[in-house]
Amino acid sequence: MRKPKALGINVVIEASHGVTDRVFNFSSGPAMLPHEVMVEAQAEFMNYAGSGMSVMEISHRSDLFASIARHAEADLRELLGIEDSYAVLFLSGGATLQFLMVALNLARESEAVAYACTGYWSAKAISQIAKIRPVRVVVNTEANGYTDVPAQSEWLEVKDAAYLHYTPNETIGGVEFPYVPDGRGVPIIADMSSTILSAPIDVSRFGLIYAGAQKNLGPAGLSVVIIRRDLLDRSKHSQVPRILNYHDHAASGSMLNTPPTFNWYMMGKVLSWVRRQGGVETMAELAKNRSRLIYEAIDNSSGFYKSPVAHAVRSRTNIPFLIFDEQLYPIFLNEAAQAGLTQLKGHRSVGGLRASLYNAMPLAGARSLANFMCDFQRRHG
Ligand SMILES: *Cc1c(COP(=O)(O)O)cnc(C)c1O
Repeated sequence: MRKPKALGINVVIEASHGVTDRVFNFSSGPAMLPHEVMVEAQAEFMNYAGSGMSVMEISHRSDLFASIARHAEADLRELLGIEDSYAVLFLSGGATLQFLMVALNLARESEAVAYACTGYWSAKAISQIAKIRPVRVVVNTEANGYTDVPAQSEWLEVKDAAYLHYTPNETIGGVEFPYVPDGRGVPIIADMSSTILSAPIDVSRFGLIYAGAQKNLGPAGLSVVIIRRDLLDRSKHSQVPRILNYHDHAASGSMLNTPPTFNWYMMGKVLSWVRRQGGVETMAELAKNRSRLIYEAIDNSSGFYKSPVAHAVRSRTNIPFLIFDEQLYPIFLNEAAQAGLTQLKGHRSVGGLRASLYNAMPLAGARSLANFMCDFQRRHG
């Protein structure tokens, strides 16, 4: 246990998995990975499955790697209840590349696409897609600083668009949709980078789901795409070059070229870890409990801490918060780091502080942060 008495911090800060040289890392991404996964990977690093080689050194066409790939897909299908009518792709690059691939593959050049603009990431997607497709923004919450999500009855009509894109959890603003929008016949596309596997979802409500790996799935550099197979037809005979083409990736088992094999292996380990924990139901329960601890510390602080986000849309995974006196930020960050609670600085577009609580964050991490916040308030309030 850490108790940095020298700073006058007098609360229990638990050790991460009993290891005192590892911290509780609240980074928004790349984020901390499950302790067990890191230990397993370390043990297999030089010699995977008796091959005498690292996973990094084996062919992506080898039986060894084929088995890693097969298990990862099977585990993801099991965890999210993904039917055969959906293809699962493991693609190089981050979610930002998927912004473009979605538009290139699912909409013809002159075809309109609909976007909900509810924060930094959806705005970023829109700014790029506007260069290549006519974008219809059906709801935009920029005027309220991206702190709320209006009911869908207040949006513009979606009809006649190739798809409707939205961001279920805005990682930077800390805004989480309390509902899945109704596409009214138009496929729903969701950027689930910061929420995938944090709760059960009904995949059949979506045309396509994508997520960059570095928040809930593994190391950065890989994305998962879950796409309804009939939508693959849209790129089958299109001019989209093969390496950007969903149909071609699906037809080649995501191996059109050399995939990021080590990342894929690490993701496989994370998926199997989530299964061992009890699946997405357990992850949802944990996400609720972790975030409740932090929101309670904020709400019970009599205005010392403040959340800028409307209650109904507060994210379970990313919690931005402010302190009433901004001179306290550097002190908070410094003391927290001394206590083993790191990467709590808010995004430059929002300021203040932010705690990201993804699947790999133990409840003890959230408890330690909540304790630290209360103690900090006692000493500086
Ligand atoms: C992190 C994030 C992205 C960007 O992911 P990259 O892998 O850096 O491209 C996009 N959307 C959301 C919701 C994110 O959280």
